[in-house]
Amino acid sequence: MIDLNELDEDQRRAATAPRGPVCILAGAGTGKTRTITYRIAHLIDQGFVSQNRVLAVTFTNRAAAEMRHRLGLMGIGAVQARTFHSAALRQLKYFWPQIAGNLPWRMLDNKFPLVARAARTVGVESNTENLRDLLGEIEWAKASLITPQQYAEAVDKAHRTPPVPAEKVAEVYTLYEAGKNTDSGMMLDFNDLLLHTAGALENSPAVAEEFREQYRSFVVDEYQDVTPLQQRVLQAWLGQRDDLTVVGDANQTIYSFTGATPNFLLDFSRTYPHATVARLQRDYRSTPEITKLANTVIGKATGRVAGTRLELIGMRPTGPEPTFTSYPDEPAEAREIAKRIKTLMEQGTPAREIAVLYRINAQSAVFEQALADEGIVYQVRGGEGFFQRNEIKQAITQLVRAAQRTDLPEEAIGPQVAVVARAALAPMGLTKEQPEGAEARERWQMLTALIELIEELGTATPDSTLQDILGQLRQRAEAKAPPTVDGVTLASLHAAKGLEWDAVFLAGLVENTLPISFAIKAGDEQVEEERRLFYVGITRAREHLHCSWALARQEGGRQSRKRSRFLDGIVIEAADVPPRSARPKRCRSCGKTLTSPQEKVVGRCDDCPSTADDALFDRLREWRLDIAKEMQVPAYIVFTDATLMAVAEARPQDEAELLEISGIGPVKVANFGQSLLQVLRFET
Ligand code: ATP
Ligand code: MG
Repeated sequence: MIDLNELDEDQRRAATAPRGPVCILAGAGTGKTRTITYRIAHLIDQGFVSQNRVLAVTFTNRAAAEMRHRLGLMGIGAVQARTFHSAALRQLKYFWPQIAGNLPWRMLDNKFPLVARAARTVGVESNTENLRDLLGEIEWAKASLITPQQYAEAVDKAHRTPPVPAEKVAEVYTLYEAGKNTDSGMMLDFNDLLLHTAGALENSPAVAEEFREQYRSFVVDEYQDVTPLQQRVLQAWLGQRDDLTVVGDANQTIYSFTGATPNFLLDFSRTYPHATVARLQRDYRSTPEITKLANTVIGKATGRVAGTRLELIGMRPTGPEPTFTSYPDEPAEAREIAKRIKTLMEQGTPAREIAVLYRINAQSAVFEQALADEGIVYQVRGGEGFFQRNEIKQAITQLVRAAQRTDLPEEAIGPQVAVVARAALAPMGLTKEQPEGAEARERWQMLTALIELIEELGTATPDSTLQDILGQLRQRAEAKAPPTVDGVTLASLHAAKGLEWDAVFLAGLVENTLPISFAIKAGDEQVEEERRLFYVGITRAREHLHCSWALARQEGGRQSRKRSRFLDGIVIEAADVPPRSARPKRCRSCGKTLTSPQEKVVGRCDDCPSTADDALFDRLREWRLDIAKEMQVPAYIVFTDATLMAVAEARPQDEAELLEISGIGPVKVANFGQSLLQVLRFET
């Protein structure tokens, strides 16, 4: 039996909506998984569908396992919970004989030789980085349902920078596709699984009928990051049916570069005009201090995604204010964060409830070192540990060789070791300038991080030779804890999606890192995706949030970096201006100090008469009701009565004056400011 009291009112409305399309537009931490599990349970409980006829799709295998676990606890373990890929693989295996007879097929497990051959044929240099980038382009195109013929135009429209001219990529793409058909059968890559599954259902009535007999009800989590190809599969699953529940948060769209798009989520109620649309805004994960920051950050977003007007309401008891700290350089930032982590642990926060999040995987190196120095156990998520990475292993082999050479200059000790090391690694791709292309860039960043580590060790021990420093590096590599242990999490913002911790350290908040340089170069849309990444980072924290940046990269380096643009307005507010509550509030009419919260919001003591025009107040209430209806939230979530009264009395003329009223912050102004000012203007 399911207990719907485990849900709040909005969650329950979504979970118990009648059979048919449901769209849950839910902010971070609002309990999406909880709600969709209950929805599935409810549909089964009410006899709308039986357990084995439901397919729940999640974004990662880990999320699918979590979903299966929760469904099991509710006694409905027969519900299928899978990723798009694993669902498609299973279906294709089953239906293949019906669509292709005994034509043999197998999964293509290594795409590189195929791409390499294609690249060589069209005269594109087939180094590893190029090949990875070419594969990235092919995968993006396939996920976006873009053919080789359409590639050049599409890449232009999407403001992508291909690793080689677009025409060349298109040629490689064509040859890659052709190369998968061999005399001994067909090879399918991940995207082909989806394509063929959709194709089988679209083209074979028998397959479609059998499948749709089996599965009748579909649920998709993280729907903001669905690709056009995945959407096509979903559509093929559904056929003419509309038993579909989707959950998503457009503000957390962070996989656009792989072809994901929030458009299907945002257009859902247009596709299904009779859909039940629910908005969850109560954030059960984070304190009000953290949700306030999250709201402010995302309140500044622009573009289509920003139009969803979701504001988080922090449901946890109040906690510490988020902190914002500038450090002279990266090693100092890392050391200080490691110290703070140690303090938190001493005060009782378990290591597994602490995370350090950053923009790119190469940033982990400096934190791995600082944590190791403090003796804190950690694990790196979404990327191997620094010393386990291929390029780092290769680089160390290279350096060991260099150290054995007999012609090394005598003065190559201490800080000078880094100079020798840099020269030794140049042939591996450590060029002077950062290269183009995602893979080449990551490799370059990793190698640069290694050189910086060597430089730091050399500065700390000025007598050491390359040999000595390699010894120190080896110790560090070996000291790294095995991956299963319970330690502090180091993760990129992308890998942190959907997860939560008591304490989160958001590090490296400087321009060109967040937003990352190539996003700045690519334009506004890409910068907006970076803003959403920041938002995802903030909303991972339950209680403690420490935001930081370093003005120089290297120890003692020139402090030329600029704090991230996403902190503009926020850092000044947080650090320099006393909180509103610290200033005594006085009655607008008689000047008496105000005491009750109600009086403070209105800005007038209870003894003085209202200066508001009743008609205006009524008009404002009507306006509020319209908005609340449109957003499907209770009216008080738009504005409380007291705030509306304050507006009626103060009659603000512009956004700045609106901000003076308590209960109105930047997010409210961004969402309702212009519309509210219009009501006021109309009245005067
Ligand atoms: P994200 O957007 O980050 O993926 P989400 O919407 O999936 O977030 P969940 O991870 O499902 O959110 O929930 C966040 C936390 O809030 C979880 O710890 C969950 O158990 C808790 N939670 C959800 N709903 C409620 C509720 N009604 N009462 C109490 N706690 C809740
Ligand atoms: Mg989630």
